[in-house]
Amino acid sequence: MKTAIYPGSFDPITLGHLNIIRRTAQIFERVVVCIMINGEKDTAMFSPEQRVRMAQRVTERLPNVEVDYFNGLLAEYSKRYDKPVVVKGLRAVTDFENEFTMALINKKINPELETMFLTASEKYTFLSSSAVKDVARHGGPLEEFIPIEILDDVRKIAGKGKY
Ligand code: ADP
Repeated sequence: MKTAIYPGSFDPITLGHLNIIRRTAQIFERVVVCIMINGEKDTAMFSPEQRVRMAQRVTERLPNVEVDYFNGLLAEYSKRYDKPVVVKGLRAVTDFENEFTMALINKKINPELETMFLTASEKYTFLSSSAVKDVARHGGPLEEFIPIEILDDVRKIAGKGKY
């Protein structure tokens, strides 16, 4: 079974992430969304468990998508699958630089590991988890940024119930 691994911090999962997941699910037989909890960014607002639960909730109707988490290197995690392909989304040149470096490092550690890039959908190129966190912290509207299923959770955890 051809498996795509979509790794990231997903802190929290956004409509931009979901767009990449849906498109990847149409190309690959199986998609594993992997919440990477290594190199934890200090700015993480959601615990790994919360991130996994939110990702599960928004993908539960996609039959070939599953959610996992890993504390370690993606190049190591990927060895669990038979010739998986890592999928990443590219929003802008700034993404490209980081992603290109990471893809090369992953290949050094695990030479069989290929990385493919999907261009961000035009309507989500502006969208990042950090932007969502900023808006959430200040109690701003989140409907256009994150899936409806996790709106309440994100509002609650960000500490603002209304806006
Ligand atoms: P962020 O950069 O928002 O903190 P992650 O580290 O969780 O998100 O990103 C995981 C992957 O998803 C990366 O490949 C990133 O480029 C991609 N991605 C993030 N936001 C979007 C978006 N709005 N559209 C397409 N791809 C995205």
